[in-house]
Amino acid sequence: MSRVLFASSEAHPLIKTGGLADVAGSLPRALHALEQDVRLILPAYAECKTRAGKLKPVASLEVNGQRVSLLESRLPGTRVKTWLVDCPLFFDRPGNPYLDPDGEVWPDNAQRFALFCQVISRVSLDQAGLYWQADIVHCNDWQTGLVPALLTLAAQRPATVFTIHNLAYQGLFSYETFKSLGLPPHFWHHEALEFHHQLSFIKGGLVFADRINTVSPTYAREIQTPEFGNGLDGLLRHRKQALSGILNGIDTDEWNPGSDSHLPQKYNRRSLGKKVINKLALEKTFNLPEDAERLLIGFIGRLVEQKGVDIIIQALPELVKLPLKFVLLGSGQREYESALNKLARQHREKIGIRIGYSEQLAHQIEAGVDTFLMPSRFEPCGLNQLYSLRYGTPPIVRGVGGLADSVVDANEETLEDGSATGVVFHADSAEALLDAVQRTLSLYNDKKSWKKLQLAGMRQDFSWRQSAQRYLELYQSARKANPCPIGL
Ligand code: ADP
Repeated sequence: MSRVLFASSEAHPLIKTGGLADVAGSLPRALHALEQDVRLILPAYAECKTRAGKLKPVASLEVNGQRVSLLESRLPGTRVKTWLVDCPLFFDRPGNPYLDPDGEVWPDNAQRFALFCQVISRVSLDQAGLYWQADIVHCNDWQTGLVPALLTLAAQRPATVFTIHNLAYQGLFSYETFKSLGLPPHFWHHEALEFHHQLSFIKGGLVFADRINTVSPTYAREIQTPEFGNGLDGLLRHRKQALSGILNGIDTDEWNPGSDSHLPQKYNRRSLGKKVINKLALEKTFNLPEDAERLLIGFIGRLVEQKGVDIIIQALPELVKLPLKFVLLGSGQREYESALNKLARQHREKIGIRIGYSEQLAHQIEAGVDTFLMPSRFEPCGLNQLYSLRYGTPPIVRGVGGLADSVVDANEETLEDGSATGVVFHADSAEALLDAVQRTLSLYNDKKSWKKLQLAGMRQDFSWRQSAQRYLELYQSARKANPCPIGL
């Protein structure tokens, strides 16, 4: 049994902007089921405090001149003990954890997450008055990156694991900011937190953690190359002995077409024929003509370059010439939002766009569309293709990162041996995407092959149990690698 402090800037269902929240909402629960003493720690955003239910103040400490309280609760729907770091000046605000209501980054993000890191490190060292000592601190993404660095200042410390959910977000700030945070001057070094004359939060994790991992084996390899390394590939190659990849699981209770309360019609492998009821309802929701036959393609996600949204926009005028329809749910860069809205106005019968965030509609899209599109430029793991597989919605994906690790391309051989689960394409272009959609259309028109593809996906096991077991092994190896463990 290990005592694990799981640190994240978001966790579903308390607060979510992306895949990190799904992981932080599920992995601690899976670790708890494997009898680990796991505690989740995250900032007490206003939304979290409302959703957490009963909160008990359990400690109070002063960090960087700020009074901080720790509020204890359970992650809703689980037994996982959760500590919310309450510092209203920093976390009790409108907008999302990183952006103000106008979509601009909060100007004091460095101060906000540096304070969060200080608290995590104090809690892990049992210096917050909680009478609990961590064996492992599991940090996630740049917002927790300073923790492994700060813990090297302690004579004895817990082992540290740093998980990269997306290397593109690094937490970069100026030298002046570095000075204002009161970090030890020796951290300003290219072998520590300095990155091309800037402070890099993520380097705290990449340089100092006992073990680093990312959320798929392919992404773990890709980030060691200049193409995917965001300038950090050299460092990651240097640390390759400490670096591994573990594919994310999914919350199979939350994402289960057989019991999903968001759906007009539940279904499973044996009642797959009922899926079409969700399709018709979804078309109605998007004001598209109801049509059970035509291929309906879906997309959900952040409207940013990473997700290949520009390729979709480029391809749509050609796509709508084919016998298919397209629905999209997402928000992000304004120019993408307006280009998509414009296309929807030009092709009212074929394209449905919903700008915004809706958990319920996301479930309805996974169940209602025939195929799910993910033309990502890079994808550390990706969750929507996993949900799609489980919902009998074969995905069309670009063969990168976790998409390459979870979807088997339908070709003669894989269709024959029953391993095919979707369509994989490789080039980063609208032509390649169109070509993949054409291939999907031919598969879809062959009802027998299509059903085989749907069932093969639905049979896959992407539950957290296996991945959580891999994390336990990672924790063991981090503990072995820790040069100054506590209690020896
Ligand atoms: P990323 O973390 O890069 O955004 P992932 O595929 O790992 O991408 O996870 C995204 C998660 O956020 C998925 O659960 C997806 O369904 C959800 N999501 C993204 N955008 C929206 C949206 N507009 N409405 C509802 N859910 C969304």
